[in-house]
Amino acid sequence: MSSLLVVPVIDVQSNNFKELWPAMVLAFKTSSFIALDTELSGLGARKALLAESIEDRYKAICHAARTRSVLSLGLACYKKLDDKVDRTYQVQVYNLTLLCAEEYVIEPQSVKFLVQHGFDFNKQYAQGVPYDKGNDKGGEAQGVNMRTLFVELLRANKPLVLHNGLIDLIFLYQCFYAQLPDKLGTFTADLSQMFPAGIYDTKYATEYELRFTASYLEYAYKKCKLDNSRSIAAAQDGPHVFLEFCNYTGSMQSYVDYRPCTDCHGCDGPLNICVQFSAYGWCPSGSHCPMSHDTDLIIRQDEKCKEDKRQKRKRRKKKKAAKQEGEEENDEMPLDKKAHMENEDGKKILGTFTAHVEEKPSDVASAAESHTEPRKNECDSTQMHKAAPDARDQAPKTSERKAEGGTHRAGFDAFMTGYIFAFATIQNDEGPESWIPVCANKLYLSGKSVPLHVAKSTFSKSSRAHVTKMEHIWRKRLPKADGNSPL
Ligand SMILES: [Zn+2]
Repeated sequence: MSSLLVVPVIDVQSNNFKELWPAMVLAFKTSSFIALDTELSGLGARKALLAESIEDRYKAICHAARTRSVLSLGLACYKKLDDKVDRTYQVQVYNLTLLCAEEYVIEPQSVKFLVQHGFDFNKQYAQGVPYDKGNDKGGEAQGVNMRTLFVELLRANKPLVLHNGLIDLIFLYQCFYAQLPDKLGTFTADLSQMFPAGIYDTKYATEYELRFTASYLEYAYKKCKLDNSRSIAAAQDGPHVFLEFCNYTGSMQSYVDYRPCTDCHGCDGPLNICVQFSAYGWCPSGSHCPMSHDTDLIIRQDEKCKEDKRQKRKRRKKKKAAKQEGEEENDEMPLDKKAHMENEDGKKILGTFTAHVEEKPSDVASAAESHTEPRKNECDSTQMHKAAPDARDQAPKTSERKAEGGTHRAGFDAFMTGYIFAFATIQNDEGPESWIPVCANKLYLSGKSVPLHVAKSTFSKSSRAHVTKMEHIWRKRLPKADGNSPL
């Protein structure tokens, strides 16, 4: 089942932005859906970002988006090829290095983390595609720039796919679209008109549709890939996902970074799995952790645990026989589903990890201690989740990628996000273009069992800046914005 997939990521920066513009716009227009990911300069105080009230959370993320910036943007355009078998997609991946033209906060820990993970600040300052935040300033609404590229993304009118996407969407709005509205209801109303083809959050889909043991990006991607290749190998009925990449020639070739994506099934490194990493895709020891952070190994371990539990349950059921069938229902739930509220999605809070480890809550400490007794705990992630309900909230959302060089992360993360979506859509048999209706316009909310709905309610108003943009984009009038809206 081992396979080597090499993903070409096109490196976009200021010196080739104009040259690549037509290719990017064409990729948007011809795609079936577009997956997106960002890397940010920081997020500020984590507690506020996870506030109990979603409205408060929105305010905190807005504050971050106004004071921080998007450092890079990954776009993966998935185009379904109708003349090919099953679900064959042609995929184009772009990684844009960006430079906010205004002052912004960059957190020291973010710099440290980014540098450790191969982010090139020299390149960013020398070659980042410049952009201004907030509302359009005159000429920005025309020409070839980041803001008009975002307009082309909207004009393409394709389903937008993100992994744990609320933060990305708030930053995108502030950085490339308009001043964020004060109210969450206004923001979601605007979003629903910006992306009428639907917004899909693969973290939500992973938890509530695919129901994997964990839902951090790399885990979900690798699990989808593994299940897909198993299904192909077993010649099972039903559609499978196949990918094709373009053959880049000429000057294009020099912009492409070929990113290998290996399935190394525990071929090297420690065999004992890090419990913390296994559950959250993150561990306080980072690359110094003596335990394994190998996602492939973790997935196989989880599968084995699941199977063991299933067998146990089967035996128990046999014993209990007919009478008590109802009682066992809950066991059908994925084994630690409820527990997955958050973690990973490291790109979001780049690097504040050392600082936070120092003030780690006792839960994290106990999780970390379990490193010393991995065999005992390895099958009991449920227990650990329960013991550490806040760990993932307190934990910086820094996904540790021990072995990865990590350049072009936004592009590659967008690619993985798109793959999860492609795989998730074949899991329900509602026809090829139905995507995942049950997941449409639902954004994952950390620590909440209900998603955030992206919709325009009868009570919510659109922001003025948004209505003006929409009129420009579609060259027509939309329903009137309310005069009392915050902008
Ligand atoms: Zn670890």
